[in-house]
Amino acid sequence: MKAEMAEQVATFPAKYGRVPHLVVILVGEDPASQSYVRGKAKASEVVGIKNTTILRPADIPEAELLELIASLNADASVDGILVQLPLPPHISEDRVIAAIAKEKDVDGFHPLNVAALWMRQPCTVPCTPKGILRMLDSVGIDPKGKRAVVIGRSQIVGLPVAKLLLDRNATVTICHSRTADLPAVTRQAEILVVAIGRPRFVTADMVAPGAVVIDVGVNRDPETGKLCGDVDYEAVEPKASVITPVPGGVGPMTITCLMENTIECFLRKQEKAE
Ligand code: NAP
Repeated sequence: MKAEMAEQVATFPAKYGRVPHLVVILVGEDPASQSYVRGKAKASEVVGIKNTTILRPADIPEAELLELIASLNADASVDGILVQLPLPPHISEDRVIAAIAKEKDVDGFHPLNVAALWMRQPCTVPCTPKGILRMLDSVGIDPKGKRAVVIGRSQIVGLPVAKLLLDRNATVTICHSRTADLPAVTRQAEILVVAIGRPRFVTADMVAPGAVVIDVGVNRDPETGKLCGDVDYEAVEPKASVITPVPGGVGPMTITCLMENTIECFLRKQEKAE
């Protein structure tokens, strides 16, 4: 996908006079967030997208952050704005996300983009769920008619991935921390998406033989300190028909889909200008 996008972006200067421009705002110095922001800058470089990372201290007043977003909204040379989450507790993530112009919301988190997704209208699809569907397509797995179970109901992963699977005619069950007898539900899954944020939570006894397992979790193993997913990969891999690793699965796909969303926002703007 990155190679194809790089080829496409290389044609933009001749056609439109410039390349897409993504601005990433990082508030504070959380090491995980810093690493995600670096990953986004690196992918932008590979694809040929201009990337500006704006760093602000953790104690930035909310009003100042909102002013920064307003100035980027008004800047015609900016196509995509992404505020790296989570934000410090004194800042409302909801207010910040809603302040980003819908047309520049490359994460697809703006309330109008969320509404459009649920109403099956054109919108920016959130990167992680979009990447998950892309991965299924890439190995020829059609969700139609399949029993899909999503563990996790967050706005950024669980809910939108469930909606995308539903739109592709899967029969979807959404599980959460109060689901009774979770293993009995997950064992029904032909497609199992796990997005909870608990190291190696999903064990082999929770997975049906031949299931497709998508592990969204990014955790630190409490013993080794290494990155690990929400699924016990070593135990589940022999049982699953396909499974995504952590690191190296959903994470890189998410960043790749962010590049795609930035290009889409850029192109929509060019079409409007024509
Ligand atoms: P979140 O907002 O913290 O939501 C976690 C969800 O998991 C909640 O719905 C929660 O249920 C559910 N949950 C927690 N413990 C559970 C349990 N014991 N049994 C069943 N359900 C349980 O998390 P998120 O933002 O969706 O992220 C989830 C994980 O994905 C994290 O590790 C995050 O780092 C990772 N992530 C990765 C990417 C990527 O690109 N690879 C992108 C985004 C997130 P309740 O609603 O009942 O509390």
